[in-house]
Amino acid sequence: MRTSVSTLKIKRVIKGSIVWLKRECGKAGCHCIQGEKHESMYISRSVQGKTTMTYIPHRYEGEVSAAVAEYKRVLQQLEALSAQTMKGIKKGRRK
Ligand SMILES: [Zn+2]
Repeated sequence: MRTSVSTLKIKRVIKGSIVWLKRECGKAGCHCIQGEKHESMYISRSVQGKTTMTYIPHRYEGEVSAAVAEYKRVLQQLEALSAQTMKGIKKGRRK
């Protein structure tokens, strides 16, 4: 199917990369003190030229992964759309 702006159907997007960081929670007697650290999802993104890390609570992990994937999908489609547009312009151009 030919891509067009109207077929993009953009869902929620996040421009950033997923980073998993291990940490200790600090609770006495927790298994993380023995080296079995907690893995937490963070989103690394650039905000006004600075890299910012945002902690993602466990219940949002699925949603955030989907939004990051959606951003990439839309970006790929936009690039394809740009190429298509250029192709059309080249075809229509008179020599
Ligand atoms: Zn812990």
